Amino acid sequence: MDVLIVGGGPAGLMAAEAASQAGLKVLVCDAMPSVGRKFLLAGKGGLNLTHSEPLDRFVQRFSHGRVADWLEQLTPQQLRDWAQELGVETFVGTSGRVFPSEMKAAPLLRSWLRRLRAGGVDIRQRWRWEGWTASGQLRFATPEGEQVLKPRAVILALGGGSWPKLGSDGAWVEWLRGRGLDVPDLEASNCGFEVAWSPVMKERFAGQPLKSIEIEGRRGECVVSEYGLEGSLIYPFSARFREQICQSGSALIHLDLLPGQSLEKLTAALAKPRGSNSLAKHLGRAGLEGVKAALVREVLPDLSDAARVAATAKHLPLRLLASRPLAEAISSAGGVAFDELDDHLMLKKLPGVFCAGEMIDWEAPTGGYLLTASFASGRVAGRGAVSYLQELR
Ligand SMILES: Cc1cc2nc3c(=O)[nH]c(=O)nc-3n(C[C@H](O)[C@H](O)[C@H](O)COP(=O)(O)OP(=O)(O)OC[C@H]3O[C@@H](n4cnc5c(N)ncnc54)[C@H](O)[C@@H]3O)c2cc1C
Repeated sequence: MDVLIVGGGPAGLMAAEAASQAGLKVLVCDAMPSVGRKFLLAGKGGLNLTHSEPLDRFVQRFSHGRVADWLEQLTPQQLRDWAQELGVETFVGTSGRVFPSEMKAAPLLRSWLRRLRAGGVDIRQRWRWEGWTASGQLRFATPEGEQVLKPRAVILALGGGSWPKLGSDGAWVEWLRGRGLDVPDLEASNCGFEVAWSPVMKERFAGQPLKSIEIEGRRGECVVSEYGLEGSLIYPFSARFREQICQSGSALIHLDLLPGQSLEKLTAALAKPRGSNSLAKHLGRAGLEGVKAALVREVLPDLSDAARVAATAKHLPLRLLASRPLAEAISSAGGVAFDELDDHLMLKKLPGVFCAGEMIDWEAPTGGYLLTASFASGRVAGRGAVSYLQELR
C-alpha cells in the first residue's frame, strides 16, 4: 500500500480518488461500520452540495484565506461536474444553493464508492485509528484486534467534532498535540445559542419558527427552542457570537421582528385605538403575532406604550449566554493550525503525513461551503501525497 487514508468522509474519499487516479495503491480505514455517515446525514434535510455564487464571492465565506487555494483545485462548478459524472444531476435552488436533483447524498455516495472500489481503492471499516506507536507506526483497533501499519504516506481526514456518534469524535486532537502540533480546541460552529427564556416562552413557544426577521441587516429565519435560538439565520454569526461570549461572558444581539415595516408605520399601527380588541389581536393586526409578540413581552413587560413596543420590535435585544455543545453543532471550528501545513496540506513536522477536511482550522457558514472545501482539501492532500511519493523515488 502506498497511501493510507484515515477517515472515509468527503475529504478522505476525495483524497483516495486523487491518489488512486495517479496509479497509487490506496487503503481507506474508517472507525465506523460504514463510511460517509455524516455526509449521509447531511443529505437527510436536502444535501446542499455547493453554492452557485461567483467564485470570488464564494471564497470569501471562509474564515481562512488559504481555503481559496484548495478551491482552485476543485471549484464549485467542477464539483457539480464531478457529481454529474457519477450520475447525479444538480440544480440551483432559489437561494443560489446547489442540491442533487434527488436532494439526497445516498445515490452519490453509492455511485462514488462503486467507482473508487473499481479503481482499486481498498476500504476497511471498523478500523479505528488510535495514534502512533513509539516507533511511529499507526495503531488501529479492529475487529481482529490491534493492527499496526506503516504506509509510505498517510492522509488524516478525521473530521471535526460535531455529531460524534457518526464517527468524527475529535479524539485525534490529543494524538496530534502529542506530536508537538498546534491544534486549537474544536468548538461549535453553525450552532444554536442559549438564551435565558422565561418559563412562558419555553413552555408555550419552544419550537416556533421566527420567519422573515433580520439580524444586522441579514434577513432569514430561525427557531425559538427550549434553550434559546437556532437556525439558518443565527448560524452565520456563530464565530462572532462565540468570540464575544468568550471575551465578555455573553453576546448582545438585536432582532428586527418586522423588517418590512418602518418604525413610523409600526408605531402608527400600534397607536390606533384598540377598541374592544384583545391586546393580542391588536398586536397581531400590526404584525406582531404569536411568538413575535411573546418576544416583545420578554423584554418589555408593559405593552401600553405604542412607541416603545414598536421600537422594541424593530430592535429587540437578546443576550446569548453560551453556544450549544459541539456535539449538536453542524460543524466545528478549530483543528490543525494552518501554520502546521504546507501548501500540499502536509504536516511540516511530520513529513509524509497530510491532513484534509474539517479537521483543519477553518470554518464557514452553511450553504454548501463546508462540503465543497472538505472535498477540495481532500483533492489537494491526495495530489500532495502523489507528488511527495514521486519525489521520494
Ligand atoms: C446535520 C448536518 C448537516 C450538514 N449538512 C451539510 C450540507 O447540507 N452542506 C454542507 O456543505 N455541509 C453540511 N454539513 C457539514 C459536512 O457534513 C461536513 O463538513 C463534512 O462531512 C466534513 O467532511 P470530512 O470528510 O472532513 O469529515 P467527516 O465527514 O466527519 O468524516 C470523517 C471520517 O473520519 C472517521 N474517523 C474519525 N476518527 C477516526 C479514527 N480515530 N479512526 C478512523 N476513522 C475515524 C469518521 O468515522 C468519519 O467517517 C452537515 C453536517 C451535519 C452534522
